[in-house]
Amino acid sequence: MADAQQDCRDLETLAREQGIRYFLISFIDLSGAQRAKLVPATAIAAMQRNGAGFAGFAAAFDFSPADPDLLAIPDPSGLMRLPWKPDVAWLPSDLKMRTDYVEQGPRNTLRRLIARAQGLGLTVKTGVECEFFLVNPDGEQVGDALDNGSKPCYDASALMRRYDVIAELCDAMQGLGWEPYQNDHEDANGQFEMNWKYADALVTADRHVFFKFMARAIAEKHGLRATFMPKPFMHLTGTGCHAHISLWQGKTNVCHDASDPLALSEQGYHFVGGLIHNAQALCAILNPTVNSYKRINAPRTVSGATWAPNMVTYAGDNRTHMIRVPGGGRFEMRLPDGAANPYLLQAALLAAGLDGIENRRDPGPWQDINMYTQAHLAQDAPRLPLNLLDALRALDGSATLRAMLGDGLVDPYVQIKTAEWNAHCAHLSAWEKHQTLDC
Ligand code: ADP
Ligand code: MG
Ligand code: MG
Ligand code: MG
Ligand code: MG
Repeated sequence: MADAQQDCRDLETLAREQGIRYFLISFIDLSGAQRAKLVPATAIAAMQRNGAGFAGFAAAFDFSPADPDLLAIPDPSGLMRLPWKPDVAWLPSDLKMRTDYVEQGPRNTLRRLIARAQGLGLTVKTGVECEFFLVNPDGEQVGDALDNGSKPCYDASALMRRYDVIAELCDAMQGLGWEPYQNDHEDANGQFEMNWKYADALVTADRHVFFKFMARAIAEKHGLRATFMPKPFMHLTGTGCHAHISLWQGKTNVCHDASDPLALSEQGYHFVGGLIHNAQALCAILNPTVNSYKRINAPRTVSGATWAPNMVTYAGDNRTHMIRVPGGGRFEMRLPDGAANPYLLQAALLAAGLDGIENRRDPGPWQDINMYTQAHLAQDAPRLPLNLLDALRALDGSATLRAMLGDGLVDPYVQIKTAEWNAHCAHLSAWEKHQTLDC
């Protein structure tokens, strides 16, 4: 793979000029967890050249304790000062072992897929909607006891009771140049969403990682806990992470065709066709936890709708489908949830979409129906997997996603996530005992 670092800024000089005392060299492992080393500015020159060393086995990767160090090579183009601790500058990194980029590296995988799109002449622009809950530090309850209405979406008072957290986060995004444009209370008690402008896929993925990190840190400062868990409360709407995508050639959005009823071009339909064709296998990455399957395929929540998909369908500006095409030559994939690995999320969507373009996949007809009440009208549409194991089996058996993402990524991913499923199965739940004790 080509070298990642386009931006050759000398970090040692930058630290001197800008008063940076520490660098946080960060990467995301296969479980989606962020790992990092805090490096004093006096030692950054060698780390910039050679990378920061980590024992790969200690993070969620398929490495043994006997393997050589994983080297996290920082990418200065992604540098961000921590708005809540400006002495420190965060750096995303690309993982190498010896001299090669490792195939298990989520950011490496995304860079590979972006390069593949570039090979087709396409620049990929994406935006993500990071919903989250603000809960008490023990995670048991929503952090605001007054936020208990049954239809809490857009509630102005509940939003303003959290002004200190939300405004601090929004000011931070403003300072980082992300162009935030709105913040709201979402459909569940204690749930919020903050939106910033779409950008190149790698930039959005880095910001997605940073947003989660920042939301947790700032919430903690205010005595709260920010969680991106897909379904922390069974009766409330879950936490999605909708992803919006468009493809560009220069300044032209090639997914856009004003003459089409959904304003989608032929290439746009093929991309959507790829997402539809690969949906089941995609779930393993977009819905990566045992808990994820309590958000999709869910019964109605107290607000009246889950806002999450159950079946593999698409439509226009209609939020009951897996893919919504709101106009303007972009589409919204509503499947991903808050647990999705920010790099693999985008890599998987690109893998499926590029498969659609390269193989001219037909998404089939769309129907502007309410999927929560009229799903019987879409009977031919496949259902989404009912649990993580079914999704992992679909990914394991997907020749298409294997070819796109690489066996070197899919094999360890499936192995690590299957271990998580097995750990879940080894857990004896209170429900199970209650259900079965008198059998
Ligand atoms: P909604 O809640 O209606 O789905 P939001 O405004 O919350 O929409 O989020 C829309 C996301 O889509 C934002 O991240 C926005 O920047 C992004 N977006 C808008 N236009 C495009 C586009 N052409 N390509 C990719 N992403 C886009
Ligand atoms: Mg939104
Ligand atoms: Mg939302
Ligand atoms: Mg929502
Ligand atoms: Mg949305």
